[in-house]
Parts: sequence; C-alpha cells; structure tokens
Amino acid sequence: MAEPLRKLFDLTNRSVYVAGHRGMVGAAICRALADRGIRPLVATRAEVDLERQDATEAFFRRRRPQVVILAAAHVGGIKANNDFPRDFLYKNLMIAANVIEAAQRNGVLKLAFLGSSCIYPKFAKQPITEDELLTGALEPTNEWYAIAKITGIKLVQAYRRQYDADMIALMPSNLYGPGDNYHPEHSHVVAGLIRRFHEAKLSGAPSVTIWGTGTPRREFLYVDDCAEGVLHALEHYTGESHLNLGTGTDVTIADLARLIRTITEYEGELEFDHARPDGTPRKLLDVSRMRDLGWKATTTLEAGLAKAYADFLKGGGRNR
Ligand code: GDP
Repeated sequence: MAEPLRKLFDLTNRSVYVAGHRGMVGAAICRALADRGIRPLVATRAEVDLERQDATEAFFRRRRPQVVILAAAHVGGIKANNDFPRDFLYKNLMIAANVIEAAQRNGVLKLAFLGSSCIYPKFAKQPITEDELLTGALEPTNEWYAIAKITGIKLVQAYRRQYDADMIALMPSNLYGPGDNYHPEHSHVVAGLIRRFHEAKLSGAPSVTIWGTGTPRREFLYVDDCAEGVLHALEHYTGESHLNLGTGTDVTIADLARLIRTITEYEGELEFDHARPDGTPRKLLDVSRMRDLGWKATTTLEAGLAKAYADFLKGGGRNR
C-alpha cells in the first residue's frame, strides 16, 4: 500500500471559522471537524452579514480566525438561478470579496474557497479537468452564480500571487444530502425530486413530473464526502490551481429519478416536462488531482440518496 501523504498543514488546535455553517455544506464541514475533535468558530447572520464589508472586517478583527472555510453562498437550482440573477451574482461576489480580503488583512494562515462545477463552460471536454476553466461560454441558466464563483477562484489566485497567501479553491460537483433545501421550485434536482416523489406517494398521484428531457447527465457528491474532501485538501494541498471534488461518475436525470422513485417507494409513472430547461448536457469532473492527493468519495449514490431521504423524513433541511 502507498504511504499516506504527509500533511502540509495541521488543523488541530487551530481556530477554524466555517462561514455558512447553517447551509448544507457548512453543516457537513462542522460535522467533519467535530469528528477530528475540532470545534469550529461559527457566527450567525445577525452576528456578521458577510455581504457587508464593514461587518465582515469587524468580525475578523474581533474573532481572529486562523483558518477560514468559505462555504457561505447564495445557492439554488436551475430555476432559482434564472429567476434571481442579481442575488446570485451580487451576493456571491460580495461574500467572496469581503471574506477573502478580511482574511488577508487579519493574518489568516489558510483559506479554502468553495465553488461548484458550474464554473466550467457549457460544452467543456468531459471529464472536465481543472484546465477547462474559461475555455468557452458558460451555461446561461447559471452564469450569474458561475461568474461570482470564477471571480472567487481568481481572487484566491491573486492574493496568492501578490501576498503569497495560502488560499485554495475547491469545486465540488452537484451536492446533496442532509440539510438540503427542499423548496418545491428553487431546490436542486435531488431535493426537489425527493420531495415530489414523497408527496406523490402520500397523495397517490399516478405520475411525477421531471423537469426537462431526462437526458442531461450529472455527477452527484454526497455532502459529507465533500466535507471530508475539503478538510483533506486543506491539510494536503497548496497551489494556484483550483481542485475538482467529485466522484468521477455520472448518471442521467432519468436514471436519478428512477433511483429516487425506488428509494421513496413510489409506484407511479415518470413524466418529462420538455418545456423546462435541461441546463448543461453534462458536467462530469476529472477528479484525478484529488485522487493523487489521497482522497476519494466513499458514499455510493444509492446509499447517499437513502440517507438524504431518511433526513427528509426526519424533518431535516429547509423550506419544508
Ligand atoms: P444544474 O446542475 O445547475 O442544472 O442544477 P439542478 O440540480 O437544478 O438541475 C439538474 C438537472 O435536473 C437539470 O437538467 C434539470 O432540468 C433537471 N431536473 C429535473 N427535475 C428537476 C427538479 O425538480 N428540480 C431541479 N432543480 N432540477 C430538475
């Protein structure tokens, strides 16, 4: 067996600020830190509004975190992105700029910025390597969010070049799991379909509508695997390129819908609403850089969906 990689950075006994701890990703990162005996520094929106520069800088001066995991973001599915372009661009831009600048001004030792695989061009070469960034036009349904996240990547690169700051950027594929947003229209596909299938089962509806053609392919990463990946990258990576976080495999939306139908024990039919947008045809990440650093996702899609549904049944997540 290969030797475990030497850690470049030790998180133990550090003050680790998780920005966005109430979101699905931030909460999973807090669980992963707790597994390592680290109690993260967190703050509510009332304590610090990261969209405001003065509030963000005051918070950093007061609390002096040594490590920052930037999982705070304004997120949503394909419809939310289309409906609220200003929110997706402005809020994500401000959060990234304010936190990264405040981290630099206040002596943060290491920062990880989180984005998403939608930063890549709509027709990027598959599987998508990190080098595909900015090689083509973006998918119009989520370009507001994507532009803000690309700017975040460029910010951490710029601070690294200008100040030698140890900041890294991580781009997970489509995330799902406990703590998701189950809004009927503004959620991502996994949460949206869990809710729709569950409600159809309860009401005895003869069919469930799936948006689009069912042919787009997506790669789904279980959020606790993502959190482990983030901590692994903080410990084992430093460098200018962002890194992909994913499973390296994808499924069609139709296959995903059938899996969710099985897990929710719904017995009706699937209907595809072609009037709804498909978005990017495919966004499968090349995950070899993270694999070379000794990390891989361990939760199968079946197991992850079952855990996500169990969390939904327990009343977890938002917009229920
Ligand atoms: P995307 O990866 O940015 O496109 O994010 P989404 O999770 O919103 O959508 C993924 C794919 O699932 C798209 O092709 C959607 O059209 C499709 N889809 C099918 N049913 C749903 C649904 O109920 N909600 C969402 N958000 N997407 C759906």
